Amino acid sequence: MERPAGLAPEMTDMVIQTLRQVVQRELPEEKRLELDREDIFPLDLIRHLLSPEVGLHLIFLPEAAGGLGGGARDICRVSEEMAAADLGVATAFLAICLGTDPILVGGVQEQKDLWLRRIASEGLIVAYGVTEPEAGSNVAALKTTADPVKDDAGQVVAYRLNGVKQFITNGGVAQLYTILAKAPGGPSFFIVERDTPGLSVGKKEDKHGIRASNTTSVILEDVEVPASQLVGGEEGVGLKQANAVFGYTRLMVGAFGLGSGQAALDRAVSYARTRQQFGSLLIEKEGYSLKLLVPHWIDLAAGRAYVEETALRIDRGEQDLQVEGSIAKYWCTETGNRAADAALGALGGYGYTREYMVEKFRRDVRITSIYEGTSEIQQSIIGLFRWKETTRSKGAFYEEQAAALDELARTHADVGAEAVAAALRGLSATILHCHERRLTRHQMVLFTLADLATRAEVAAAFARQAARLATDGSPLAPSHAAASRVFARQALAQLRGGAGLCVAGFLEVSDAEGLARARELMDRLGDDRDLKGRAGLWQDMELVAEHLRTSA
Ligand SMILES: Cc1cc2nc3c(=O)[nH]c(=O)nc-3n(C[C@H](O)[C@H](O)[C@H](O)COP(=O)(O)OP(=O)(O)OC[C@H]3O[C@@H](n4cnc5c(N)ncnc54)[C@H](O)[C@@H]3O)c2cc1C
Repeated sequence: MERPAGLAPEMTDMVIQTLRQVVQRELPEEKRLELDREDIFPLDLIRHLLSPEVGLHLIFLPEAAGGLGGGARDICRVSEEMAAADLGVATAFLAICLGTDPILVGGVQEQKDLWLRRIASEGLIVAYGVTEPEAGSNVAALKTTADPVKDDAGQVVAYRLNGVKQFITNGGVAQLYTILAKAPGGPSFFIVERDTPGLSVGKKEDKHGIRASNTTSVILEDVEVPASQLVGGEEGVGLKQANAVFGYTRLMVGAFGLGSGQAALDRAVSYARTRQQFGSLLIEKEGYSLKLLVPHWIDLAAGRAYVEETALRIDRGEQDLQVEGSIAKYWCTETGNRAADAALGALGGYGYTREYMVEKFRRDVRITSIYEGTSEIQQSIIGLFRWKETTRSKGAFYEEQAAALDELARTHADVGAEAVAAALRGLSATILHCHERRLTRHQMVLFTLADLATRAEVAAAFARQAARLATDGSPLAPSHAAASRVFARQALAQLRGGAGLCVAGFLEVSDAEGLARARELMDRLGDDRDLKGRAGLWQDMELVAEHLRTSA
């Protein structure tokens, strides 16, 4: 098989090692707390990270442009690592990556040669200007205009940009902006330098979290950019260019959710290992570990398996993984939020104070389920596309995945593959039922189907990873197998609950036929497998708790 795109693992390890050293040296905890408290953007640190000495941005730039040519897996690993240190600083990097992407995916060769090289060699801070005061989730509602400026021969030589961009990360500190504006041919990206006359920066936002990042509005008043700075040299392809990168930028934000959530949870685990109450350590208490620690550790591990698998698919050249990007973002950011919230509680009163950092992680991670498409937008995408795919393939889409898990269950009986296969088949039947009964016209039905699809698809990736670890003889195999069994059972339980809501939540009791059909489906989903499947759930969680008590 062809080697997937990206760095050799040793090289990625080196990048991570360098990053850790810089964080240790230049971003100790007191410094992070100070940046947060005083609302300071650490310009010197960002410049250092972009300097030839560190060159962190080179990971997402192609070798041809002087970058390292990192793949999606590399970028996700670095993203998770950065988010575990400081999500504000990580966000500044995300914006540089996002701002560069339209050129990377849509630029003509001369644009790539010029701008990507400059970003690589000069370490330019880039900003991505898409959102507007009245165009957030619905980007297509943008109002910023790009009017062509013609020469005497009627040739378009420049564009004049007018409008306001809202919530732009690096807005006040960037040297380069990629701005989405409406040209006569439709939304298009333009490359705009900071010192272009007419570009100014609005007020800095006073934010709930990620206070070390700089967020401002960007005002464009008759900003004239040469036609050579229309990305791709063609009008009207801006939304397509933005969509083309969602597969991996959303994966990157998913990795942020994992990094922040895990960092908070790790602190809770360390705390629970030393804190005594009622005569024993907190971590020894079943109700503490199985409620506040283990479920979140499992959910994060499952999300990581999904991100890794999807990143590898991207690195192997698979196209059109936007839905997978949405699933990764939705699961990992919501999980990161839940984990950070539980970690705060796990530290009791100390968790509620700033000094212990968990409070900061909890505030910071909240942004991950808002930017790069809110959770509700991800649910809309997942629900809509999985519904279409399932009906188009007459159920084959999930049936094929379920059959592969049946196969996995034969070789690895202890990773929960059987339960995941049942969840996937149940999901398929539920989608087809909702389609036939025209229930998918309800947004809440689509959202619930999205939740079920997300859980089941993440469970499938987790089971595959657990099986691989067992095959490789990894010391992590037993804890991951137990965690995967827990997750798989939960996928099946969630399916039954969610399916019930989908098929009955909008049904009137007087609709006798509808109720009968809904019952039929529920009977199909509700064999004794569920109860059987739940047997030993908490025992498996105990195995994971033991891993948390004893692992380094
Ligand atoms: C700190 C920060 C940094 C950011 N950085 C950047 C950046 O660098 N570049 C950039 O271009 N943008 C950036 N953004 C903007 C961000 O991507 C948007 O805020 C986000 O996409 C949501 O848009 P909105 O704020 O207009 O909310 P809205 O779109 O108005 O959404 C409000 C609420 O309605 C829900 N909603 C919207 N549509 C639907 C629907 N169809 N069905 C159900 N519910 C719906 C949303 O989920 C949300 O809960 C940033 C935002 C923040 C806060």
